[in-house]
Amino acid sequence: MRGALAALAVVLTAAACTADPVDPRSPPVTTPPTSTAPTDPATSTGPPVAAPRFDADRALATVRDLATGIGPRLATRPAYGAAVALLWPRLVSSGYAVTRQSFAVPAGDSWGVPARAGRSSNVVAVPPDFDPDRPYAIVGAHLDTVAVAPGAEDNASGVAVVMELARTLDSDSDNDLPVVLVLFGGEEPRGPGDLHHFGSKHYVAQLSAQERRSLVAMVSLDRVGVGRTVPLYSVDGGPTEVRDQLERAGRRTGVPTTVGTNTGSDHESFADAGLPAARVGGTSYAAYHSADDRPDVVDRAQLARVGRLLTAWIAGLPRGR
Ligand SMILES: [Zn+2]
Repeated sequence: MRGALAALAVVLTAAACTADPVDPRSPPVTTPPTSTAPTDPATSTGPPVAAPRFDADRALATVRDLATGIGPRLATRPAYGAAVALLWPRLVSSGYAVTRQSFAVPAGDSWGVPARAGRSSNVVAVPPDFDPDRPYAIVGAHLDTVAVAPGAEDNASGVAVVMELARTLDSDSDNDLPVVLVLFGGEEPRGPGDLHHFGSKHYVAQLSAQERRSLVAMVSLDRVGVGRTVPLYSVDGGPTEVRDQLERAGRRTGVPTTVGTNTGSDHESFADAGLPAARVGGTSYAAYHSADDRPDVVDRAQLARVGRLLTAWIAGLPRGR
């Protein structure tokens, strides 16, 4: 069964790629440094280096790949597997060791549509030479959608920012805090109450005691392409440490933010386990959880703000070496 799904995923991925001028099998990581250095002299502090920078146009292209190329990605349906198959090689080509965690999702109601029980998966991208004895951070975004929504804003936007971070962070650096990137499955609800966030709950449950001790911060990017200010959330009644760090990064980079409390995304699973976590994103919009959640609701400038904010936050994290 899983082999059949994988085969279908490959077929769907191939179809998506045909319409896409950017072939994911040809990663843009080999761009010669000389092609970017002359256009950006302000950042040159020495010899030209091939440091890729967060590109909101690339992020928008990822939003289209997912929302238009694949469409609704219910966590337990083959389209979800197609999304995994699309993004997996891009994470690998960015230098990460990529693995998949499989978990069960119960039957239920996906925003008004009956959904059968099944399995979904998290995609976990770990920097090379990752050492759980040393401090690290997690940045995640849920890859699934409710049954009917193409999910451009919810949450191809968050996934697209994760993919840009994968491309632009120096995953092989000895100087930067390592960042584990996770695409979560099964975030969207299967009913009221606690029937949601299945992938992140599974992820937290499998963390070793050492991995928990070394985790300095987790951020969930969830709906980050709408609005002009960036919402930052801690959980109700929980510590605000990570949210405060993000707020300071916003001030440093001129990105306007608002702060509040919210439990509506995967950061909740980490906070419930006593781990430092926050959510970025969540501005209200009319197309929420509907068939109208298409790429035109996502604003390139807002993706750029969130990219700037996250890049600065990561750069400012304590290294703890
Ligand atoms: Zn969401």
